[in-house]
Amino acid sequence: MPTYDFKCPKCDARKNHYFSFSDEHKLTCECGTAMEKVFQATPSHFKGGGWGGQP
Ligand SMILES: [Zn+2]
Repeated sequence: MPTYDFKCPKCDARKNHYFSFSDEHKLTCECGTAMEKVFQATPSHFKGGGWGGQP
């Protein structure tokens, strides 16, 4: 299940939440502000083996 980090632009609170594909990807902070999705780099995905047909 994919997880997403959310950040509140107002009070800087952070939440980690998972969504199914059918869910609306929105969260509201406890302060009432709509939280923004934070995109994470996943370098291990691109560095690791298994891609490019290598054994
Ligand atoms: Zn907030």
